[in-house]
Amino acid sequence: MRYLPIHIETKDVTIRVFGGGEAAEAKLRTLIKTEARLEVISENISLEISRWAEQGSLTWRQKSFEASDLTGARLVYAASEDDGLNAQIAKLAREQGVLANAADQKSACDFITPALVDRSPVLVSIGTEGTTPGLARALKADLEKRLPADLGKLALLTKKLRAKVKKQLPNLSDRQSFWAKIFGGKDLSHQLRLGAEGFTNTVESALSNPSEEKTGQVALVGAGPGNPDLLTIAAQQSLHGADVIIYDRLVSQQVLELGRREAEYIYVGKTPNGPSVTQDDINALIVEKAREGLHVVRLKGGDPLIFGRADEEINVLRDADIAFRIVPGITAAAGAAAEIGASLTTRGKNSSVTFLTGHDTKGYAEQDWKALAKPDARAVVYMGVGASRFIQGRLLIHGASAETPVTVVENATRPEEEVVSTTLSSLADDMIQAGIKGPAVLMLGYSANRADVTQILKAVS
Ligand code: SAH
Repeated sequence: MRYLPIHIETKDVTIRVFGGGEAAEAKLRTLIKTEARLEVISENISLEISRWAEQGSLTWRQKSFEASDLTGARLVYAASEDDGLNAQIAKLAREQGVLANAADQKSACDFITPALVDRSPVLVSIGTEGTTPGLARALKADLEKRLPADLGKLALLTKKLRAKVKKQLPNLSDRQSFWAKIFGGKDLSHQLRLGAEGFTNTVESALSNPSEEKTGQVALVGAGPGNPDLLTIAAQQSLHGADVIIYDRLVSQQVLELGRREAEYIYVGKTPNGPSVTQDDINALIVEKAREGLHVVRLKGGDPLIFGRADEEINVLRDADIAFRIVPGITAAAGAAAEIGASLTTRGKNSSVTFLTGHDTKGYAEQDWKALAKPDARAVVYMGVGASRFIQGRLLIHGASAETPVTVVENATRPEEEVVSTTLSSLADDMIQAGIKGPAVLMLGYSANRADVTQILKAVS
C-alpha cells in the first residue's frame, strides 16, 4: 500500500483550488460537500463554478497564481488547464509544507483523491493508486447500486443509540457482537425501512433480550417478467441479504442466480399436471422460516401485487406479527408493452387500460365484456392462454370488431420471447398455430410497433 487512506478534518480549514475550468470543476464537485473554506484562485471560472460562488459554497479570487497564495492553506489543488503551472504550484506547496494535488500528474501529487460512494456520514472510498480509474468507476457503480440511499440516516440513528448501548454493555467486545447482530451483514435496507422509531425499538428490544436470536423478516419481492436487468435495486438488495428464497414458477433462473449461493431455495410453483404447494402451505412456510429468525424473500414473477395473491400472505404476516416489506416489480403487461413498443395508454384514445385474468377460482373469468368490446377499449389479459377462445367469443358476441388488433407476447423480456400479431377473429387459432403455451399476455387492442427481435433472428437464420 503506497497511499495511505485517511479522512481529513475540513472544519475551519482552508482548501485552495487553482484553476477555473473543467479540471477544477471536477475537484470542486466533491470539495463543496465538505465543511472547508474553499477558495478558487483563477482569472476565469466556468459557469458552474460561478454558480457555486453565488451560492456561497466557495469564494473566487480573480487573479493569477502567486507563491504567496499558498500561505495558510491545508490542502492545495493545482487544477488549472496548464500542466506546467500545476506542477510548479504543487512543487512550491510541498516546499511550504502544504499537501498538494496536481490534476492528472500523479508524480507531482502528495495525495490522490479516491472514487467515492457518498452516504454521508458513511463514506466508501475506492482507490487503485492511479492504476486503473476504470475499475474504480465500475466498483463505485456496483456499490452505488448495493448500498441503500439513506445509509447515512442509519449511521446517525445508531450514533444516538450508542450511549444507551454502552451503558448497558460496558464491555467492548459485548458491544461489538451486539452491533454485529443488529446489522448482521444482511439486508440493511430493511433496517432503514423500519424508520427511526422501528429501528430504535429493534435495538431496545435486542438490549432487553440479549439472548434472543435475531428476529426474522420477510420481503415480498417482485422479480419482474424475467430479464434480470428489470429488477429494482431494492429487489437485488433483498436477494443479496436473503437466507431463504421462496419462489414461484415464473421467476427466471437468471433472477434466482442473484441470490447468495448459501441461501436456501424453495420452489413452491405449480408444475403443470404435477404436484403443487397450496397457498396455505406457502403461508405456513414463510411464517415458519421467519420465526427461525431468518431473512425470507418471497419472490414472485412480475409485480407481487398484481395477480400474485400477495394479500393472502400479507394478512398472514400481519397476524403473525412478523415484520415485512413489499418490493414492487415490473408487471408482465409493462414488460410486454415495452417489448412491442406500444404505449399502454394513448392520449385522446384510451384513457384507461384493464389488466384482467383469463382464469379465476371458478374457471374462465367473467368480465364486463360490453365495456371491453368497445372500439377504444384496451386490455391486457394475464393467465389467458387456455381461455383465449372463450375471451375471443365473449368479445365478438358483445360487438367487438373482428379486426381488433391483438398482440400476444409469450415469455416477454426473456431470450425465448415470442410475439404473435393477430386480430380478434383469428386469436385462438393463431395462438395454437404459433404454439403459444405461456406464460403469455394477450394484449387486446394493441399492435406491435417494433419488429420483434426473435422474429428478426428467425428470418435471418
Ligand atoms: N404478478 C405477475 C402476474 C402473475 S399471474 C405480474 O405482475 O406479472 C401469471 C401470468 O402473468 C401468466 O399467466 C402470464 O399471463 C403473465 N406473465 C408473467 N410473466 C410473463 C412474461 N415474462 N411474459 C408474458 N406474460 C407473463
